[in-house]
Amino acid sequence: MAFFNIDSIKDRTFDAIVVGSGISGGWSAKELTGRGLRTLVLERGRDVQHIKDYPTTFKNPWEFPHLGQIPKELRDANPIASRCYAFNEDAAHFFIKDNEHPYVQEKPFDWIRGYQVGGKSLMWARGTQRWSQYDFDGPARDGFAVEWPINYADIAPWYSYVEKFAGISGNKDGLPQLPDGEFLPPHEQSCVEKHFTQQMAKHYNNTRPVIIGRCAHLTQPQPIHTQQGRGQCQNRTLCQRGCPYGGYFSSNSSTLPWAQKTGKMTLRPDSVVHSIIFDEKKNKATGVRVIDAHTKEMTEYYAKIIFVNASTLNTNLILLNSTSNRFPNGLGNDNGLLGKYIAFHNFRTTISAEYEGFLDTITEGNRPNSSYIPRFRNVFKQETDFLRGYAAGFGSSRMLDTDRSGFGESLKANLTQKKYGNWHVSSHMMGETIPKETNYVTLDSDLKDAWGIPQLKVSVAYDDNDEKMIADFHQQMTEMLTVAGFTNIKTNDRPDKAPGLDIHEMGGVRMGKDPKTSLLNKWNQLHACQNVFVTDGACMTSNSTQNPSLTFMAITARAANHAVDKLKKKNL
Ligand SMILES: Cc1cc2nc3c(=O)[nH]c(=O)nc-3n(C[C@H](O)[C@H](O)[C@H](O)COP(=O)(O)OP(=O)(O)OC[C@H]3O[C@@H](n4cnc5c(N)ncnc54)[C@H](O)[C@@H]3O)c2cc1C
Ligand code: SF4
Repeated sequence: MAFFNIDSIKDRTFDAIVVGSGISGGWSAKELTGRGLRTLVLERGRDVQHIKDYPTTFKNPWEFPHLGQIPKELRDANPIASRCYAFNEDAAHFFIKDNEHPYVQEKPFDWIRGYQVGGKSLMWARGTQRWSQYDFDGPARDGFAVEWPINYADIAPWYSYVEKFAGISGNKDGLPQLPDGEFLPPHEQSCVEKHFTQQMAKHYNNTRPVIIGRCAHLTQPQPIHTQQGRGQCQNRTLCQRGCPYGGYFSSNSSTLPWAQKTGKMTLRPDSVVHSIIFDEKKNKATGVRVIDAHTKEMTEYYAKIIFVNASTLNTNLILLNSTSNRFPNGLGNDNGLLGKYIAFHNFRTTISAEYEGFLDTITEGNRPNSSYIPRFRNVFKQETDFLRGYAAGFGSSRMLDTDRSGFGESLKANLTQKKYGNWHVSSHMMGETIPKETNYVTLDSDLKDAWGIPQLKVSVAYDDNDEKMIADFHQQMTEMLTVAGFTNIKTNDRPDKAPGLDIHEMGGVRMGKDPKTSLLNKWNQLHACQNVFVTDGACMTSNSTQNPSLTFMAITARAANHAVDKLKKKNL
């Protein structure tokens, strides 16, 4: 993608600037350029071009020096990144090196990052569920955090819009807590997952639905996908390496090339955004300060509107670092709430079990998806002693029991003779955490990174609500697995597992109705600086039990189109 050496103010002036090229930045770029705006996309990491820059995508397991595992030295050097399940030899190059990007953990927090063109859209697991009205109603109903300024009805058309373009597979399940979308054909549940689904429907009278997961995979590409140059998902399940077929949605395969085709996008990798420039006379932002990742030289770029899509915590960092006489505590931070009310998803606990039936059936081949248990606690009314609820993944496979005994020919025969054990199922909990003022990020007053930017200080922790929810998950899932005839049920809580590993951090620049209690209005504009838009996870008022990225995409597309409308009416 293009890189321009720009040295005059005119050449450094655009209609729009987008900070970050990941899931939300890609959508900003696509929408803004699609509506005719000359858009500069600033990305702190290196360029990653679709297909060309997926070095491991066609490698066989034996072609990796460590057969896919991370060697001990690399693991020891990257204790945070290596806690992420996807940090393996085939995909480690898409994760940052811990020592290059330090931050302060006031409380333990595993901050997982991918700094490159495409951001974390290259490594994500692609689970994509809509949020429901129950999620947008949550804060008002339960009295935590502040009310959302938008409803499901505001965002529903934008869900449809992004789903059709990105390509989401799923089944229309008709669940109020998990609205249906514009789906490509669903994957199929395994026989054991179907059995569990049926048993749950029978025993709980359809109040605990189990469904096939909804995910950003092209199970049946439509013309809009082939126009993007993307093809059918081959079920290789090597997605975190980057998919050469464009089988899953990433910024690199989808939104960025689409934006580039308009001829309106200038993508500038290796450009670390330091801060946003606020002009007190004009009472608006006029541009951004950018540090070259390699030379460390600072340059300014200018635009009428700025979309901050650096991912939740980095967006908080950039705004906190954007100080001026008017905003001494960070851009738009009149109420002192910038950086506060961070929430995450509690992924701390899992449960596993076996099923002694279906022994005449095996699973060979891959499916880049699993089943999903939508939230069933506190949906229609408050029924437990904790607020909100949890969803859960539910996967199954047949255990392979390899006989490693014998010598020579008998060893060979034993090793090549596949012997299948019982079906094994496992489920991980995805719990909604409560956004609290005491969960916050700030800037460290002394420590700086290699670019002279203050390090982020993260202070985020579990609370009693999370503990009660975990106990409920164990109890309810144990009951559900027992009811369905599963055996050898084992719960596994890891209290030492820090928040963050869910990689669903949200908040800090929350939307709201009142500038006294929120930072952004219902169109994602900073109340106090309306030509700056924040549409990544930082804008979220609360955080649902569903995966967040589809909602980031819908909110971004909605806000970008609103921004262009306002700009065209000269209202910005
Ligand atoms: C292994 C894994 C599994 C996941 N699974 C799921 C899932 O199943 N479903 C789901 O919904 N979500 C999932 N996620 C989370 C998902 O990837 C994120 O929610 C999503 O990528 C966030 O989009 P974003 O645009 O905010 O940030 P990103 O995609 O991270 O993009 C932000 C970009 O901004 C750049 N940037 C940061 N700071 C600056 C700066 N100062 N200047 C310039 N550029 C900057 C970064 O380099 C990056 O490229 C997963 C993530 C991972 C890593
Ligand atoms: S499972 Fe689909 S999306 Fe993932 S790597 Fe294979 S073809 Fe690509």
